[in-house]
Amino acid sequence: MKLSKMLISTLREVPAESEIASHQLMLRAGMIRKMASGVYNYLPFGIKVIKKIEDVVRQGMDAADAQEFLASALIPSELWVESGRWDVYGAELFRLKDRNEREFCLGPTHEEVFTDIARNEIKSYKQLPLNLYQIQTKYRDERRPRFGVMRSREFIMKDAYSFDASNEALDKSYNKMYDAYNNIFKKCGLTCKAVEADSGAMGGSGSAEFMVKSEVGEDEVVFCTSCSYAANMEKAPGTPEIMEKKEFKELNKILTPNVKTIEDLEKFFNTTSKGFAKTLIYKADKRVIAIVLRGDRQLNETKVKNKIGGALEFEMADAETVMTSTSAAVGFAGPIGIVADILLVDEEIVNMYNFIVGANDTGYHYENVNYGKDFNGIVGDYRNVNEGDKCTKCGSALTIARGVEVGHIFKLGTKYSKAMNATFIGQDGKNKPLVMGCYGIGINRTMAAIIEQNHDENGIKWPLSVAPYQVVVVPVSTKDEGQMEIAQEIYDNLKKIGVEVLMDDRNERVGVKFKDLDLIGIPIRITVGKRISEGNVEFKLRSEQENEIIQIGSVINRVKEEFNNNNIIL
Ligand code: ATP
Ligand code: MG
Repeated sequence: MKLSKMLISTLREVPAESEIASHQLMLRAGMIRKMASGVYNYLPFGIKVIKKIEDVVRQGMDAADAQEFLASALIPSELWVESGRWDVYGAELFRLKDRNEREFCLGPTHEEVFTDIARNEIKSYKQLPLNLYQIQTKYRDERRPRFGVMRSREFIMKDAYSFDASNEALDKSYNKMYDAYNNIFKKCGLTCKAVEADSGAMGGSGSAEFMVKSEVGEDEVVFCTSCSYAANMEKAPGTPEIMEKKEFKELNKILTPNVKTIEDLEKFFNTTSKGFAKTLIYKADKRVIAIVLRGDRQLNETKVKNKIGGALEFEMADAETVMTSTSAAVGFAGPIGIVADILLVDEEIVNMYNFIVGANDTGYHYENVNYGKDFNGIVGDYRNVNEGDKCTKCGSALTIARGVEVGHIFKLGTKYSKAMNATFIGQDGKNKPLVMGCYGIGINRTMAAIIEQNHDENGIKWPLSVAPYQVVVVPVSTKDEGQMEIAQEIYDNLKKIGVEVLMDDRNERVGVKFKDLDLIGIPIRITVGKRISEGNVEFKLRSEQENEIIQIGSVINRVKEEFNNNNIIL
C-alpha cells in the first residue's frame, strides 16, 4: 500500500480521555476512535492488527484440533432461561425485544448457544471429543468501561467450547487448550503467565487465567517468589499465620470512647493490628453476613461469596443494618452477641490468643477474647493474601503484582449440559450429559496488552507477528527520481515474496514521516536517501536504536533474516 492513498489519523497531542499508555497510543496512532462510553470504531491500522491477532489465534486453535464456527450474537431469551442465567446475570446483559415483544439478549458469552448446538448435533460418544470455537463480537454493559478497548462494552472474543464423554477426557481437552493458549500469546509477543483462577461463580472444577504482568492491570495476582505457583488474588490461599500460644485470660469489657479505627485502637491498647479482630458486616441479597478477620487483613469477597453459595448483590451493609446487627454505632461491631444470618470466622482467628474486638456496645471493646471460648462461627479462609505470606505449595514468601487477564480457560463439567439436557449415547448405550469446557481470549484486550508491553516514548513497537504492516520503505525525497525508482523496486520485490509492505510516498519531510511510522510502530523501516549513490540504504528495526547501512541488493535477505529470527514463514 502507498501511504499517500491511505487514511493516516495520527495525533501529536496526548488525548485527554486516555489514562494508560496503550489507550493513548491506540488513539494517537490512529487505530481507534471512541463513539460512546466503552464503544469504539477501528480505523484501518487498528483493524489490521485485530485481524493479525485473530489469525494467530485461529492458527493456534486449528492446530489444537478445534473447529471454527460462527454463532449469532443475537440470542433468544429462552436459552438463557433454560440455563437459569436470564434472571441471575444482572445488569451486564444487554437485553432487547423484537417487534413481536419476544425477548433477546446480545451475547456476552455463548455457553447456552453452544450447549444448544451440541444437543442438536452430537448424538453419540463416537463424535467426541469435539471443540468448537468462534471469533465473534460480544456485548457486556460493563459497570465501568475503561482504559479504551481493555474494558469495553462491545469487544471481539475468541470463545471455544469443548465436549467430552468423561471428566478424564475433559482434562485432556483442557490441557490442550492450556498449551495452545501459551503458544498463542507467545506468538503475539506477550510475556504472560497462566495463574489459578476462581471457578466458583461458573460452577466448574478448574480454571486458569492468562495474565500479562502490568501496572495497569485490574487484577491482583499472587506469585510465589520461589516455586512456579501463581493464582488470582480472588482464589489464592495463603498459609494462616500461627501466633504464639498463650494461656486464655479473662474476657474484659473496656470503655473506649472515640476509639473507632484500627489506628485508634492500636494507640489505645498499645499493640499492633495483629492483636485485633475486626468484624465486617455485608449484605448478600437479603442476608446479613458478618465476617471476622485479623486487624491487618483484607476481606476476600470471592471466597466469602463462594462460601455462602453465591449472591447477586454483595456489598458492605449500610449504617442502619450495622446498627441493627450490633445494637451499637458503626465502629463497635464484634463477634460476641452479634445478630447476623451467617457469622464467618477467618481461620487465622482460631490461632490468635487474648485479642481485642468491638463489644457491640457504643464506646466499648472486649479484650482477652478467644475463639471457641467467647464465640463460635463458620471457620474458613476469607482473607486476601498479604505480601510475604507463605506459599501453600512450598512455604516461601508470596508476592503480589498486577495483571491484565487476556485469556481464561474453564472446566464447566456438566453444569450447562444438565440444565439444558445436552446428552449423548455412551459406549454402554446409556444417555449421559456432555462434559464441557469453555475457553476465551479477548482479541482487543490482547491488542492493548501487547502495546502495554511493547512501546516507548515515540510510540508502539509491534512484534512482527501482529504488526499492521511488517515493513515500510521510505524515500527521503519524493521529488528525487533516483530515490523513488529504487524505493519502488524494493517495495515491489518485498511484495512479490509476500511481505506486507508500505511505501511512504507522502510529500512530507522525512522527520514527519519517521514520527508517524514510529508512532504506528511498523517493525522494519528501509530508508532510501542520498546513500543510493554508494549503492546503500538504511535498515532500521523499530525495536532498536541504531540504523544499519546495507547494500540495496541485500535488502531482501536482511528482511528474510529478520522474519527467520521471529519464526515467521514467508
Ligand atoms: P474481567 O474479569 O476482566 O471482566 P471476565 O472474567 O469477565 O474478565 P471472561 O468472561 O472470562 O472475562 O471473558 C474471556 C476474555 O474476554 C477475558 O479473558 C478478556 O480477555 C476478554 N474480556 C472480557 N470482558 C471484556 C471487556 N469488557 N472488554 C474487552 N475484553 C474483555
Ligand atoms: Mg467481566
